[in-house]
Amino acid sequence: MHKLFVSPGDICENTITVTGEDVEHLHALRMREGESIFVSDGEKTVYEAELTQMRKNSAVFEIKSQRPFENEPLTDITVFIALLKGGACEDVIKQSVELGANRIIVFSSSNCIAKEREKDAKYLKTARQAAMQCGRDAVPEVLTGFSFEEMLEELKKAEISLFFHEKATDHFYDVLEKNSLPRSAAFAVGPEGGFTDFEAESAEKSGIKVVSMGKRILRAATAPLCALAVITSLYDRRR
Ligand code: SAH
Repeated sequence: MHKLFVSPGDICENTITVTGEDVEHLHALRMREGESIFVSDGEKTVYEAELTQMRKNSAVFEIKSQRPFENEPLTDITVFIALLKGGACEDVIKQSVELGANRIIVFSSSNCIAKEREKDAKYLKTARQAAMQCGRDAVPEVLTGFSFEEMLEELKKAEISLFFHEKATDHFYDVLEKNSLPRSAAFAVGPEGGFTDFEAESAEKSGIKVVSMGKRILRAATAPLCALAVITSLYDRRR
């Protein structure tokens, strides 16, 4: 069954009112009155709801049943990616949503080649579509425009904070394994040109673990997906 993401304000007692682009989506799906769909309030509840009124610009659903979120990761995961060339950030965002990130934050650092920022709205749309496609209960947040220093400040707030640098000697898996089920995990991956040694030292001075992902150098768009797959495999299967 298809899933829509609304905000809690769209839900009133037993009724959900959908407007805007989502209505176009429902028309494209050729949904008819009497058919049901899942609707997430984006916060904690997923409803099964029946379409009772379909108009050109709005659709009204009646709630039939509800359940708490069950497809969201147990550990809150934030992925920090550097600004990448040629639309690569969009691909990383899409795949990070599939792999279970709760938040994706784009930052710039010294070796970033890409200078132009993509539009936030475009990224949010990408995240929303990916969340629908893979059956997430919530749409992950996408934030952009962070400086390297702002990224470090946010990164260190997580229970597990990792800074990936190909020259590091400690392997990230050893850090993850020591923690059975952290409340939150966050990591940063550098741009095509990598992080500078100075940046890696700043991360270390902030108390963040500078870690390796193995002997091979992964591309800037591959590295975050590798880290994410390992983190969710390790933490999200423990219930
Ligand atoms: N400085 C390099 C590589 C950049 S790879 C160059 O210019 O060739 C892009 C980013 O992916 C790095 O900044 C790092 O965050 C991450 N990365 C890739 N392979 C890695 C590895 N083996 N260990 C740790 N981080 C890695």
